[in-house]
Amino acid sequence: MQRRHFLGATPAALGAALGVPNALHAATTAGGSAMTWSGPRAIAPMRASVDRIVDVSVCTRPFRAQGPRIESEQRYGKTIVHHYGHGGSGWSLSWGSARVAMGLVLPHRPRHLAVIGSGAIGLTTARVAQRAGLRVRIYCKDRPPEVRSSAATGLWTPDSRICSSVAMPAGFAQRWETMARSSFKTYQSLLGLPGEPVEWRDGYALSDTPFDQPLPPDDDGEPDYPELSARLADIHPTSQPLAADEHPFRAPHVRRFTTMTFNIASYQRLLMDDFLREGGEIETREFFHPREFGTLREAVVVNCTGYGARALLGDDSVIPVRGQTARLVPQPEVDYLVAYRGHNLVAVPRRDGILVATQEAHDFGNAETGMDRSVSERAVERLGALFA
Ligand SMILES: Cc1cc2nc3c(=O)[nH]c(=O)nc-3n(C[C@H](O)[C@H](O)[C@H](O)COP(=O)(O)OP(=O)(O)OC[C@H]3O[C@@H](n4cnc5c(N)ncnc54)[C@H](O)[C@@H]3O)c2cc1C
Repeated sequence: MQRRHFLGATPAALGAALGVPNALHAATTAGGSAMTWSGPRAIAPMRASVDRIVDVSVCTRPFRAQGPRIESEQRYGKTIVHHYGHGGSGWSLSWGSARVAMGLVLPHRPRHLAVIGSGAIGLTTARVAQRAGLRVRIYCKDRPPEVRSSAATGLWTPDSRICSSVAMPAGFAQRWETMARSSFKTYQSLLGLPGEPVEWRDGYALSDTPFDQPLPPDDDGEPDYPELSARLADIHPTSQPLAADEHPFRAPHVRRFTTMTFNIASYQRLLMDDFLREGGEIETREFFHPREFGTLREAVVVNCTGYGARALLGDDSVIPVRGQTARLVPQPEVDYLVAYRGHNLVAVPRRDGILVATQEAHDFGNAETGMDRSVSERAVERLGALFA
């Protein structure tokens, strides 16, 4: 496949891993003439060394080839709205996706709503329902920070592993755009808050070969993903090529881009605090079969169980895509991302540390959540070498 998912073969695909595909693509295919920058800026080096790794986490993305499942059914005496399978885009798309799900809830005119799950999708679904005037109770096996969503990198990546090119249903691209724009709009209202849940950051895309030169195809078992982000060109800043004396990185080709990032820890806390402050309730409960939804007090249930839906519903369309992330000691002076094309490496400056995300061959379809520290150590060493 063409590595469209992670530091891919083209500038657009590289951006796809970062949530700025159209920006990089547009700037490159337009001849990269968007050079308006008037001089080098100070770039504090990332102190990327193995001894500064304070945490390594593994998480599986809930990928569905046909895109997220957002549909309702009448079963077990309830209206059940399924809302899961957001691949590598769950945080990014969450608000818009929640609004689509709410469109299936509201016609039933419930005053009380049950939401199963408190990951990115459950929490935002609950908040959108509260804003619509509903009383919401969340039921979940785990709550933040134990949910899988807590292990996400925290980038605006609305089209990351959101569906496969081959299985993309008719009309999906338009629905996706509506969800992405709706989410993006909500995120603009979360800027500048205490704890910086959402921030805009500059980033540097590095490459050993020119960005318009494709990387060799690899054999990691991943499908081709559609390049949807070009639809968002008007809301993504463009990227710029940098000359060798305009950056400190040991890489022959460098572009600067700008993207939105999420400080997952403070953002999750904000969502949970807002939910509780508006009268939301949360109950720890594990479901082993969907017929147990029939025992709930609420007549309408939104099933936001993410990868958990695979076991709960026996839904094999949910495919795990493993990802491992190391966290380095925070460096408040580092305010930029690094993405190294062809090396499966992205480093993101969050308030709780510098996240170093890697992707390995055979992560697609891999449900293994045990971590392999040596993989992260190699990634951190690769990152450190860029500043040597
Ligand atoms: C390494 C990595 C990096 C990522 N980076 C990004 C990123 O930068 N940007 C982005 O937008 N997305 C990113 N993602 C994708 C994003 O994290 C997912 O799409 C998102 O977490 C899915 O959220 P969710 O709420 O559906 O699932 P989860 O977070 O898994 O939440 C599911 C909830 O349901 C509950 N549950 C499950 N089964 C049951 C059950 N049987 N009974 C009761 N409760 C149950 C769980 O306890 C939990 O509360 C990344 C993913 C990975 C793996």
